[in-house]
Amino acid sequence: MKFNLIFYFFLIGLVFGSFFNVVGFRIPIQSFFRHHRSHCPSCDKQLSWQDLIPVLSYLRLKGKCRYCHTSISIIYPFVELFTGSLFAYSFYIFGLTLELFTALLLISLFSIIFVSDMAYMHIPDKVLLVFFILFLVLRMLQPIISWSNAFLGGISGIVLIGAIILLSNGGMGAGDMKLFGIIGFIMEVEGLMVTFFLAVISGALLSIILMLSGKASRSHPIPFAPFIIFGSLTSFFYGDRILIWYIAFF
Ligand SMILES: [Zn+2]
Repeated sequence: MKFNLIFYFFLIGLVFGSFFNVVGFRIPIQSFFRHHRSHCPSCDKQLSWQDLIPVLSYLRLKGKCRYCHTSISIIYPFVELFTGSLFAYSFYIFGLTLELFTALLLISLFSIIFVSDMAYMHIPDKVLLVFFILFLVLRMLQPIISWSNAFLGGISGIVLIGAIILLSNGGMGAGDMKLFGIIGFIMEVEGLMVTFFLAVISGALLSIILMLSGKASRSHPIPFAPFIIFGSLTSFFYGDRILIWYIAFF
């Protein structure tokens, strides 16, 4: 029975992921409400339902538009699979609890931000604001952490990244700072610190690899949101274990 439900969550996640692609690609260019139906960004042809089945349409069309044969971004199927598998995993871990909704909201926020940051190197304020309000409502329904710890975590996230922006002039932006504010609000100071270290370490490692292989340079920075997302989800699901390991090690 539980396996069936896990599979349903996977399917629901695929459909939501497909919607998050639309939000992430359209909100930063202000075209979310202009087009009611999905269309090819290259030839503008309206897409039918057969072109919009998560992952399967991409595979069947071999990653190209049916009409103009322009390549479709790999971001689309990736985000669908990312959302689907993490929705399923969250249900597997938390079952039908309010904590599950925190996980689903966090994954939803990250899916949209991933798309926007990869496509435009931009984290839209509107998306952050809407999710912050949703998280506030969820915290009122489920006060598992104290409000003071939540706000302390949020302020710590903003101050930490704000200081880095001032000291490094570049590298991270205002969007990253606000995102860390939300992460701190959800995961308190401990979760925030684990997120920060994982994001910085993974980001630095990949930057070094890309620079050595000539695929990136200092003048062409890579989007940082994917590393924040990696760090944050790892911290959310395994933060306690990482802290125990860290304390035991040092
Ligand atoms: Zn096309």
